Amino acid sequence: MMIVLASLMLFLGTSSSADAQVSAGSADPEITAALNDVSAEKIRANIEKLVSFGTRSTLSAQDQQSIAAGLGIGAAREWIKAEFERYSKDCGSCLEVKEDSFLQPPADRIPSQTQITSVYAVLKGTDPESSKRVVLVTGHYDSRNSDNLDIKGDAPGANDDGSGTAVSLECARVLSRHKFPGTIIFLTVAGEEQGLNGSTHFAEMAKQQGWNIEAVLNNDIVGGNKDPQQDTSVVRVFSEGVPVAANDQQLRTIRMLGGESDSPSRELARYIAEIGRTYDAGVTPMLVFRLDRYLRGGDHYAFNQQGFAAVRFTEFRENFTRQHQNVRTENGIEYGDLPKFVDFNYLSHVARLNAATLASLAAGPAPPANVRLVTRNLENDSTLTWEAPPGERPAGYEVLWRPTTSGEWEHLEKVGNANRATLKMSKDNVIFAVRAVDGRGHASLPVLPTPER
Ligand SMILES: [Zn+2]
Repeated sequence: MMIVLASLMLFLGTSSSADAQVSAGSADPEITAALNDVSAEKIRANIEKLVSFGTRSTLSAQDQQSIAAGLGIGAAREWIKAEFERYSKDCGSCLEVKEDSFLQPPADRIPSQTQITSVYAVLKGTDPESSKRVVLVTGHYDSRNSDNLDIKGDAPGANDDGSGTAVSLECARVLSRHKFPGTIIFLTVAGEEQGLNGSTHFAEMAKQQGWNIEAVLNNDIVGGNKDPQQDTSVVRVFSEGVPVAANDQQLRTIRMLGGESDSPSRELARYIAEIGRTYDAGVTPMLVFRLDRYLRGGDHYAFNQQGFAAVRFTEFRENFTRQHQNVRTENGIEYGDLPKFVDFNYLSHVARLNAATLASLAAGPAPPANVRLVTRNLENDSTLTWEAPPGERPAGYEVLWRPTTSGEWEHLEKVGNANRATLKMSKDNVIFAVRAVDGRGHASLPVLPTPER
């Protein structure tokens, strides 16, 4: 052990590590091929179909007659289910299509008891141990117009959130043609506009059943509406800072040692930025270190509340004459969330970025376990220790670090298949993390060390 350690320190002392920004491993040709299958045309067709249901208000009709007529949220739900089942048929029943359905009692924006149903497809991982790890993409298929209690009037919701629903569907279509050791869930929820009801129920179920969800990608308003001020080269990625689910001891550590900007959700956001550098999705993630936009919320927060890492994707510039509006023209301004305002090419790029993130995490190793930063003595070197995750051993590990004032990981040191590394720099001056890598260039999410005394 001492010999290994000595050679490792020598290695650290001689290798250069001054990358300006870290990338998430190297591009996997199979993932690149999957990204090339993402189709703007298919996404357009799916959004037009969703709009054809008239309204997808959570409070709208879901009786058999309305479903048969193709009107209301019930019809939308049945169509999404059929679509997932069609993809599954094409991949030899590789997807398990499921519902999370419950009766929501009356609440603030729910006048009477309402059935709320989330529809999801599970692409189960091929490795018995790794398949317990779940990455998830979600969008809300419910919609609303100017009046959140209007159950009959048109609420096309092409962008909000037909776009996010289309991302979940398209990721399911292209990724179901491939096999991954880890499990991917493609989720579409209802009740978002009524108060995140569908995702709250789903996240609570996942927590109660002990699901190991590593990442939640929530896409809400990612259609890149075609305004002159729109920037189609970027998509915003919102992530919480101090975790809403942090306990008192975790909050104390954050107060004492920093960590306001190192929640699991923020590490996920940084990982997405790295994926944006590893794969050419056509759009660059623009990290916003904030839970969500002012006055707004979204389904990722329901997952954050249960302690899961979850981020929100939203286009660069929203157009508020489109969202939550009755379709009409007033003083020459067109209101309403119609497909003609959606940029399907941009949306296909956002879908690619999501697919690349899901595939990289599901293909890659589990994060290292019990990552610790040794703080027993006052010293200027920094020693990190960790253990292999359950299941297949990763090919190796990498230590990441950045100055405490920096937004993204700036430096990376490959430390091989060790379980400990000593770096010739003071832990007081930087933030460290450790991640696992496999033999094909996939990296796990990084794990911040817990101080060990
Ligand atoms: Zn929305």
